[in-house]
Amino acid sequence: MTENTAHVLLLVPSLNRLYSYKIPAMFVDTAVPGARVKVPVRRSLREGYILEISSGGPGDAVHRKLREIKEVLPIPPLPPGMIAFLKWMSNYYVAPLGQVFQTAIPDFLARGPIQAKYYEFQAMPDVPVRSDKAMQILTHLREVGSEPQHVLRVLFPSSDSSIRTLLRKGLIKVVYKEAEMQDHGQVLQDMPDGVGIVLNPEQEAAVEQVTPLIGREFKAFLLHGVTGSGKTEVYLNLVTRALKAGKTALVLVPEIALTPQMAGSFKARLHDQVAVMHSALTRSQRADIWFRALTGSVRVILGVRSAIFVPLQDLGIIVVDEEHENTYKQEHGFRYNARDGAIVRGMHEGCPVVLGSATPSLDSFNNAATGKYVYLSLPERVSSRPMPEVQFVDLRFQGEAARNSLISPALEDAIAQVIARREQAILFLNRKGFAPFLLCKDCGQSVQCPHCSISMTLHHHPPRMVCHYCDYMTDIPQACPSCGSMDLVNVGVGLEKVVEELEQRFPDIRLARLDADTASTKRLGAILNAFAKGELDVVIGTQILAKGHDFPGVTLVAVLLAELSMGLPDFRAAERTFSLITQVAGRAGRGDKPGRVIVQTYQPEHYVLKYAAAHDYTGFAVVENGLRKQRGYPPFVHLSVVWFSGRDPVATRELAVSAANIMRSMAKKDLRVLGPVKATIFKAREHYRFQLLLKSDSRKAMNEALWAMHNTVGRGHHGVNVEIDVDPMSLL
Ligand code: ADP
Ligand code: ZN
Ligand code: ZN
Repeated sequence: MTENTAHVLLLVPSLNRLYSYKIPAMFVDTAVPGARVKVPVRRSLREGYILEISSGGPGDAVHRKLREIKEVLPIPPLPPGMIAFLKWMSNYYVAPLGQVFQTAIPDFLARGPIQAKYYEFQAMPDVPVRSDKAMQILTHLREVGSEPQHVLRVLFPSSDSSIRTLLRKGLIKVVYKEAEMQDHGQVLQDMPDGVGIVLNPEQEAAVEQVTPLIGREFKAFLLHGVTGSGKTEVYLNLVTRALKAGKTALVLVPEIALTPQMAGSFKARLHDQVAVMHSALTRSQRADIWFRALTGSVRVILGVRSAIFVPLQDLGIIVVDEEHENTYKQEHGFRYNARDGAIVRGMHEGCPVVLGSATPSLDSFNNAATGKYVYLSLPERVSSRPMPEVQFVDLRFQGEAARNSLISPALEDAIAQVIARREQAILFLNRKGFAPFLLCKDCGQSVQCPHCSISMTLHHHPPRMVCHYCDYMTDIPQACPSCGSMDLVNVGVGLEKVVEELEQRFPDIRLARLDADTASTKRLGAILNAFAKGELDVVIGTQILAKGHDFPGVTLVAVLLAELSMGLPDFRAAERTFSLITQVAGRAGRGDKPGRVIVQTYQPEHYVLKYAAAHDYTGFAVVENGLRKQRGYPPFVHLSVVWFSGRDPVATRELAVSAANIMRSMAKKDLRVLGPVKATIFKAREHYRFQLLLKSDSRKAMNEALWAMHNTVGRGHHGVNVEIDVDPMSLL
């Protein structure tokens, strides 16, 4: 009789090797790759996954010494494609398998059925409760009976004390029940089910190309459709076809709280077959969905980045909506990109992958141009609604008084009109990852590093300009290096100041401010809801507003200062600005009334702005590609960053230096290691940050160097933390 050996990954984040165990006779049928098992480790039992099985007979000396698997857990094994996918993720992103599994697999299995906390209506009070909010909550609960805690929090922001009051008075009570899949409560209701929508010929053509491959064969598609061209309808069609073929479907979206419309359409059309996985789910809710997918009771997942790890069986299709979005990249710990992961998962599952966007990333666009992806195009808005008109306000020619304001006379005028007509406006100020830079008020150029073609960052202590790619430094120039003007300004504007100004000029304005860094998901949901209902005139915020909202009342969209994103010390700054302006402009004129877009800038002739105004993606992509190629940035070279952070700047830098030396000693001529340099945000939460930048034409050379470094340095030591970022989205 032959006996097989199981190679098991223990669920320990730092582990990158498998341990071997004997498979006792009672488990020969169940101990398969992907099975979850308990195995002895020293004197205790630990859980893990069988990743491989090899044959080794009882005569085999090594085999004889092995210990036995103690238990195979009674749950379905991971699908085979999943194991190959997770191994790929580990190798490609230079992360130990244990860390990948820790991210991919919820740690719930031993804990029994999943229960969620609900509030349940009990009684109306004899005397009304004094707090308005408490009464609103109570009235709501009377209508619906009960509501999960996390949903109530979205519907009634900052309501914890009101809830406590209601509990204390016995008007509501806490119950625990099995979590329902419905997660957005009211936000998701009232969505049209889309019955009666007939695909237009372009949508039809896209669907026809993908359909024959569903559940059969891998191929990647880039669905390039302008804003409002009906991409969602294409996704829904493909997903429905996958279900009809007995397959499952995975749909990734950047952030669900920001796009309740999409979740609404999916729910309305697919009902209980779809589970929505947003980022505000608790661990146990996430685990619940994960498990239902594994057992086949959920067949469609609509989810954010982490949904790429949901073990759907028989995957028929994967869709990645807004594929250019940064949110697909995990920016801490195990830094993976779910968009790129989707392609690899599709390859291992043997199913088509559709990446959709109005402004594809240059990476995907190039893959389509070289024929690696099939290009599908939706060039027009549904029902031929016109694209909004984009108008520039040239900040160079504003009067002296207006020079220090971000509300130009033209914009003020436009806002006044919107308010008078009871329409709505979105004002947009991009300042994520803000790094101060110098901008010439006369020619609109920022001061750039001569070696990297990247905006240099302004430092005050000591005063100088620094390039955060290569560490090149100069004195702060008195005059603009491009045109000689003395009118250089340090760009640094806050939302607060703009809000203040608006309130001064429009005393009755109903205004809300949304800031990606400060807004909690629940606050966000509440503001977007109020805006959708017409309870606000103006929403002012950061790029959080650029996502796929559909507010029919919005007729004015303004970008307050386009330079804020163009001047970031980031090789993708131009691409991001283009996509931002296009997406933001796409928010205008979604309803019956035409939309208007105002972009305020010091350099209206800039190629990014020109192409964005003309809604000319291809024109932009061709120019930007040329620049990337010439300057040596992706997609023409591969980049990786290694981040080092610690409380002690000297020790942190030293570790970065020795890591750099390890990689340089291996480096053939096709790998360049730049640094260490101080990170753009050098000090954060008492930690000092350094970075190494790797550039190479060869993925293999880069991957090998990173693994060699990782095998010596690991995830850091002596209080210094090391993180590897393969294909960084941003160097901030
Ligand atoms: P995108 O995601 O490309 O920005 P959406 O999918 O949100 O566009 O579609 C915009 C609007 O057009 C939605 O209200 C959608 O219901 C509607 N729509 C999509 N396809 C059709 C169609 N073939 N006929 C009529 N309306 C459509
Ligand atoms: Zn100048
Ligand atoms: Zn430089």
